[in-house]
Amino acid sequence: MSNIESMLAFDREHLWHPYTSTVNPLTVYPVAKTDGVKIILEDGRELIDGMASWWCAIHGYNNPALNKALCDQVQKMPHVMFGGLTHEPAVSLARKLIDLSPPPLQHVFFADSGSVSVEVALKMAIQYYQAVGKPEKNRIMTIRNGYHGDTLGAMSVCDPVNGMHSLFESVLPKHIFAEAPCCGYDDGCTDDDFADFKSKIENHAHELAAVILEPVVQGAGGMRFYSPDYLKRVRQACDEHDVLLICDEIATGFCRAGAMFASELAGICPDIMCVGKAITGGYMTLAATLATAKVAEGISSDGGVFMHGPTFMANPLACAVANASLDLLVESNWQERIPQITKMLRAGFTPCENLATVAEVRCLGAIGVVEMKNPVDMDSIQLEFVKRGVWVRPFGKLIYVMPPYVISNLELEALTSAICEVVSLQR
Ligand SMILES: *Cc1c(COP(=O)(O)O)cnc(C)c1O
Repeated sequence: MSNIESMLAFDREHLWHPYTSTVNPLTVYPVAKTDGVKIILEDGRELIDGMASWWCAIHGYNNPALNKALCDQVQKMPHVMFGGLTHEPAVSLARKLIDLSPPPLQHVFFADSGSVSVEVALKMAIQYYQAVGKPEKNRIMTIRNGYHGDTLGAMSVCDPVNGMHSLFESVLPKHIFAEAPCCGYDDGCTDDDFADFKSKIENHAHELAAVILEPVVQGAGGMRFYSPDYLKRVRQACDEHDVLLICDEIATGFCRAGAMFASELAGICPDIMCVGKAITGGYMTLAATLATAKVAEGISSDGGVFMHGPTFMANPLACAVANASLDLLVESNWQERIPQITKMLRAGFTPCENLATVAEVRCLGAIGVVEMKNPVDMDSIQLEFVKRGVWVRPFGKLIYVMPPYVISNLELEALTSAICEVVSLQR
């Protein structure tokens, strides 16, 4: 057996991959290295990356500025505990996040993954109402088709059907679910479109701490885009009913939907905001939960403290590379590049639009989605993509891309035309 074969055999026997069986796992492709927008397999084949490693690698792989930030930091201080200590990479990153986000968001909690930042956000909302003397406000409301992570608290606000509620029903808290927004990105939001959310928040306001949702783009729960007007109405309704609004910007943050944060598309500011994924340019695991002064000061108004403290909180390596990644982003011409990517995705997916097997093609920011009428067979469709030199990982009926922003026009064309070819083979 070659080294690669024995590595794959061990992997198959002993390693869990995301959402897979240990008994009958899906195919995995061994990667030797990554460079720019290319994933280079052990057998030498090069794949154009359409996934940016799940929304993260916005500047491409092996980026010299990010490599340097990480190498410099590792010489100084790879990690130090954040209890009772602080450091420049964390303070400088917090400054940047506060500068980039809407002005009311002033307090930063560093977490080590997106799911943890969601747990932190939910706990902040619940602790806030305890501290201000309304402990009965301890439930959460959300919209269907959402995705907020895989830990128990986050899972409890994921879509109850395509999330994992049936598996974990006995341990998940029961929260309130409004219908998924039915008004599309380019539509307004009528009273009818908002009726279900409105009646649920009215009925439950007395027991609600927060509404949590993904602003404008629902990612892993269905890759749906909805009207920014809907989000505006959510903000108003939360204000009217004294309910905090948590925007989960983990997927959408850092320009993916065409604005620095997707909530800006609706001109609103949440009380609590979660960011993650692209924050380090895909180099390290890091997330953050930002809060307004009202929330942060509210939590401590009764002398209390916010009760969370991850071991690797504000890890200096992750903060250093995040600082470099946000600098690159701010200095890039993303305001021009993202709309160019949208245009090219639209044009590139045009051949898919009229195929009998395709339900809908939709693009927003640097996100392109081909929704099929039927679920695709993952193993065989992935093989077809790899054969054509692209890396795309569909789920269910959804074939979608969110490429690194640094992808060239030629690479983007190669990516969309390979997808169109594979889609046209589907029966
Ligand atoms: C990926 C994601 C999460 C979870 O982040 P992890 O880092 O995987 O824990 C939460 N919310 C949204 C919107 C996401 O896309």
